[in-house]
Amino acid sequence: MLEKVISENIDKVLADYSNLLGNRKDYVGASDIGQCERKVVLSKVENVDTSAEQKTVMLRGHLSENVVGDILEKAGLYFKRQYEVIHPQYSFIRAHIDFLFQAKNGTKGVLEVKTTTGIPDEPYMSWVLQLQMQMNLVKLRFPQDEVKGAILVLDLSSGEIKEFNGFTPNSNIFAVLVEKAKRIYEKVRNNDKQNLKTEVSFLCGSCPFKATCPEWSGDEQKVSDDIRRLVEYYKSLAEDEKELKKEKEAVKQDLIKVIGEGELKFNGNKVTVKNTVRKSLDSKALQKELPEIYERFLTEREMVYFRVD
Ligand code: SF4
Repeated sequence: MLEKVISENIDKVLADYSNLLGNRKDYVGASDIGQCERKVVLSKVENVDTSAEQKTVMLRGHLSENVVGDILEKAGLYFKRQYEVIHPQYSFIRAHIDFLFQAKNGTKGVLEVKTTTGIPDEPYMSWVLQLQMQMNLVKLRFPQDEVKGAILVLDLSSGEIKEFNGFTPNSNIFAVLVEKAKRIYEKVRNNDKQNLKTEVSFLCGSCPFKATCPEWSGDEQKVSDDIRRLVEYYKSLAEDEKELKKEKEAVKQDLIKVIGEGELKFNGNKVTVKNTVRKSLDSKALQKELPEIYERFLTEREMVYFRVD
């Protein structure tokens, strides 16, 4: 009953939050800038239904921001929320800053809040580029003040919190981002869906335009640094796992040599070695000799085939 009420009314709550940001089709926001160009342009020119799962994720982000806001307020910190900064020359480039702090000496602190499941060791490139856009726009508005930035990441399931800080505006990165924003804006204005730049990143997992994306039908793909790092990390873990298995087996054999057959007990530890016979079914032979019986008892279960070479 409540599930239905929530799913039917979640849009109203999300609309309230979206209204604070204005019509995202009319400008290129800082959160757009770190994303794949094709995804950003298509999401602005095509009407796409947001899945229930994506809506929940969006809501989770807003709720986290509110919680962080409450905590920082209780801590006696003064800040502005959803502070809007607009590029003085290109008014279609905008940022809505989650939290903007100001020190007594005028230094501005930009804080971007992210909610994830599992916190990465390093911030994702899309987060860093978003923060760069925000910090640089703040710097343009307050050229006399120092500007610093941080990303606060919350994992609501595990309760883990991590802050990535020490960021400062980089004008070279900003110049590249402004060019990208101009390209996106032109494409959206002209409803031009041709030759849009793509890059495989974490965003692909939830991208509504994946089915038609050229990146997923060709051979060699353009891959973001975040994804490259993740694949390399997986490969190194698989290598460690192989070594650990070897090491574990060698230790096991040493203990079997010591115990022979019997039990070793000390300090609450118990190591048992027993010679047994394990019976198993020879499915290949069964399939060959009694194919009908084999088919009758064959069960199916869904699984994900995963392999990294
Ligand atoms: S699937 Fe990935 S590369 Fe393709 S448009 Fe979506 S985010 Fe971009």
